[in-house]
Amino acid sequence: MREAKVSVDDVSATSGLLELQTMDSRIREAQGRADAYGPQLGEIAAVAERAAEAADETGCRVRDLQVEERRRRLAAEEKTGRVRRLEERLKQVRTLREEAAVQAELAVLKRAVEQEEMEVIQLLDQVSRLEERLRDQREELEGAESEADPRRDELLAEHAMAVAQVERLNVVRDEIRAGIDPRLLRAYDHLARGGSRKAVARMTEDGACGSCYSVMPLQIQNEIRTRAPLVRCEACGLLVAAPTDEADGD
Ligand SMILES: [Zn+2]
Repeated sequence: MREAKVSVDDVSATSGLLELQTMDSRIREAQGRADAYGPQLGEIAAVAERAAEAADETGCRVRDLQVEERRRRLAAEEKTGRVRRLEERLKQVRTLREEAAVQAELAVLKRAVEQEEMEVIQLLDQVSRLEERLRDQREELEGAESEADPRRDELLAEHAMAVAQVERLNVVRDEIRAGIDPRLLRAYDHLARGGSRKAVARMTEDGACGSCYSVMPLQIQNEIRTRAPLVRCEACGLLVAAPTDEADGD
């Protein structure tokens, strides 16, 4: 389907739309730069968060091992008490058979005490190694936090500057739009989809659309060159403006 021709015999309309398109693309870039600060700030927070999580996890392990160590120590103490009572009983035995029975029980119990004490030593060893790791992790966390604060402030300041730049460009954009015929603005907005796509292209010197490079009919080429109207390219639908020299050299 052939698009309706939008044509205005006004050189300023041509340069106005091209100016608007350039501004829209600058705003899009500036907005992109401003938006990029979000993930950067998030990454800074994530580093400190990961360090805090690692320290928390080690802290929990230390507490669990300390509970286990206490349980083993009490068990060892209880068994040591039983060993002492059996040794008392040994002094009072009357028969060899009775002595043998008590000795056997003692031997089993002493082995059990040794076992528990060994476990206690191993647990204490693990606790002290984990406490050392916990100290390192807390130092790391402090380092991450003290590094994150100034970096965060720096990024927030840069972000504020980028946002202000977008606002300044938007003021200029409004001024440019105020100088353009509303009918052309509607055509531009429709094609540009809020500035996210190209809407205007200059015709090339040899008479082709500057976007899709289809050659324009000679009569249209002449209209574009002589009166600088904005005509839609029949192939891609973009508004085609006069080549640079003819449009700007007045
Ligand atoms: Zn085209």
